[in-house]
Amino acid sequence: MSITKEITRLRGGLAEGVALVAVSKMQPVEAIMEAYGAGQRAFGESRPQEMARKQAELPADIEWHQIGPLQRNKVRLIAPFVQLIHSIDSPRLLETIESEAERIERKINVLLEIKVAREATKQGWDEAELWRYLDGEAWREMRHVGFRGVMGIATNTPDERVVRREFVRLREIFEKLRKDYFGPEFDTLSMGMSGDWPLAVECGSTMLRIGSQIFITP
Ligand SMILES: *Cc1c(COP(=O)(O)O)cnc(C)c1O
Repeated sequence: MSITKEITRLRGGLAEGVALVAVSKMQPVEAIMEAYGAGQRAFGESRPQEMARKQAELPADIEWHQIGPLQRNKVRLIAPFVQLIHSIDSPRLLETIESEAERIERKINVLLEIKVAREATKQGWDEAELWRYLDGEAWREMRHVGFRGVMGIATNTPDERVVRREFVRLREIFEKLRKDYFGPEFDTLSMGMSGDWPLAVECGSTMLRIGSQIFITP
């Protein structure tokens, strides 16, 4: 299936309120332009250098999403244009984003990445660590960080019960954060990839990050 057909089919099938981020990491600009031609505007990248290079070459109305781990010394590369950073996993990263956003007089929207998967390697906040941080005051002082929601990656397993349990947990954390800490602007639950997105939608996802299903066309 072509990129155009896959984008059209995916977008046509999604309910209102579920956004699609096309994950274009390692894809050439030509592939991104094909998806753009089919109406897609939100693209996800995992490497800041690659995102900055593509952003400079491609149309200005593309929304760039940082989905992969972000090193603090790379924040500067994407701060001027990034639409949403999905991968916030530490207080220090938040502090770096706050100071860089203040410097360039921009507000930067972020998601808190929460670790729910079994695999030891997945980054993100441990729940206990997150609650401890939020009970402090530091984040309340951040005027240039827009806290917009939660991101999570489920365990890569064919066992649907495991994946469902993790998505449900992410949804619960998202709702608690919205209700008890951040309020109505905290409106984005980023979960679901090529292998598990229908289940993520069932569990309340508002934003899918889909790469190989769109770009690796058999
Ligand atoms: C690569 C990546 C995706 C997309 O994965 P696919 O399985 O190709 O759809 C989604 N989220 C993150 C964080 C990724 O790194």
